Amino acid sequence: MTRTKRGFIVLSISLAAGIYQTVNAEQDAHIHGEAHLLIALEGSSLQIEFLSPAMNIVGFEHRPQNETQAQSIESAVATLNQPNLLFKLPSTAQCNPVVVEVEPPFNHEPEHAGAEESDEHSEFTSRYQFQCQEAARLERIGIEIFRHFSGTQAIEAQSISSSGQRSQELTAERNTLDL
Ligand SMILES: [Zn+2]
Repeated sequence: MTRTKRGFIVLSISLAAGIYQTVNAEQDAHIHGEAHLLIALEGSSLQIEFLSPAMNIVGFEHRPQNETQAQSIESAVATLNQPNLLFKLPSTAQCNPVVVEVEPPFNHEPEHAGAEESDEHSEFTSRYQFQCQEAARLERIGIEIFRHFSGTQAIEAQSISSSGQRSQELTAERNTLDL
């Protein structure tokens, strides 16, 4: 039993690493309107990583140039910091968020004042970890990201759980991810 379980963990970690590399490789040329979700359920721990072009989230990818744009970023960060708004987990699974990390773009000052950045893309990355007391009940997750960030047209979701690895394309109309 123990060996099987360990085998699964090693396998899933290597699969997760593979997915992560794939997504990283794609980041240089992200497509506006598309985003990625990486989901791993191992034991009672559910991990979710959300990667999105800033365009989908705030409607621009340059540094904020006025108060309105700065507030758009602040408000997006506030929403991304509330996983219960973004992910609808079955209440029977009894999941609680234990880690929330949001990395907005433009966190660093440009190297030179007025440096040209207009060609660059920017992304939001956020990571979540939930502890689920009844993880076996976690068969699907409602993805509410479309509701909050209307620039999001499609999400490529890749997931790993004890039932295997899955790749699903989600939209506002088809926003339920099966684990
Ligand atoms: Zn872009």
